[in-house]
Amino acid sequence: MSGKNKQYKLAARPVGTPKDSDWEFTSSDIPTAGDGEVVVKVHYVSLDPAMRGWMNDAKSYIPPVGLGEVMRAGTVGEVIESNNPAFSVGDCVTGYHGVQQYGKSDGKDLVKVDPNLAPLQSYIGGLGMPGLTAYFGLTDVGAVKEGDTVLVSGAAGAVGSMVGQIAKIKGARAVGLAGGADKCKYVVEELGFDACIDYKSPNFLSDLKEPLKSGVDVYFDNVGGDILDIALARLNRHARVVICGAISQYNNTTPVQGPVNYLNLLVQHARMEGFVVFDYVKQYGEGSMQLGKWYSEGKLKLKEHIDEGIENFPSTFLKLFTGENFGKLVLKVSED
Ligand code: NDP
Repeated sequence: MSGKNKQYKLAARPVGTPKDSDWEFTSSDIPTAGDGEVVVKVHYVSLDPAMRGWMNDAKSYIPPVGLGEVMRAGTVGEVIESNNPAFSVGDCVTGYHGVQQYGKSDGKDLVKVDPNLAPLQSYIGGLGMPGLTAYFGLTDVGAVKEGDTVLVSGAAGAVGSMVGQIAKIKGARAVGLAGGADKCKYVVEELGFDACIDYKSPNFLSDLKEPLKSGVDVYFDNVGGDILDIALARLNRHARVVICGAISQYNNTTPVQGPVNYLNLLVQHARMEGFVVFDYVKQYGEGSMQLGKWYSEGKLKLKEHIDEGIENFPSTFLKLFTGENFGKLVLKVSED
């Protein structure tokens, strides 16, 4: 096949916020399918906060991306060549092809998706990994139940927006924390949360009082730092704190800020537990079916922030850490 496959490779381990020089923008030949393989033309690349952690040479739940390797990322695209009987040309699939325009796979990591049921990019958003993170994190780790007050940070984002909506479906109250009045308005008026507080407002702490007057039964933490401490101080008896992420800490050049108010876990007989969505890989089918059903019933609203052009990857990625993304951040990398 003619044409080139544009790619972003990791050139250096970032210190603090990633810089342009941490990336190498390059191109290779478009791959061809060997025995049992398929070639996928990537339409959208998923930009996720976790990618920042994968750039560090540190022990984690998954090995780091190696220097010189294509940056790891979730993708959704279309099969353009197949030597695998499970896939036909034209099938739409999610996978982990990374920040590039074409990827090759033996098919084991690919999941077929239906572009007639939802826009393709939703399958790397609310109906994909972030949606599954919210679903398993809230229902299993958070053990949400009717009547709970669920507090979630990053409430306008990919995971947080789903957490609040699922909380409402489960009969809980949903209180969000987000940066800025526009995001808070959207979280309440469009997503149906009971309240959303702007954590950047000078009145943040006093604004929290009314919506949290009956305390917090589940705190779903996406941001860590001071906000985790503020939530810990407001826990109810037997509360559950779900450690999903800590985006406020990912670009630190100093040690991660730990919680000061952790003794409230003891006082309130509460539990704090971290999890990784990959723990639930065997239940992805069940989770995806449930999310798809709620979506088709009109119970879930999805929002993606779509930037275009693979060459814009470095600057688009940084939007996650400045809050410039409004909805699940994806990059359209296909050129036609
Ligand atoms: P989002 O779509 O929520 O985008 C990131 C948002 O984080 C920004 O828009 C911004 O929103 C907020 N943010 C950025 N910097 C800060 C800060 N310093 N303090 C507070 N908020 C900040 O991302 P995702 O939904 O994809 O991810 C949310 C979290 O979930 C991340 O921590 C991620 O690592 C984690 N995650 C964990 C998984 C797991 O398996 N455990 C799987 C997937 C995600 P605002 O404008 O409101 O500040």
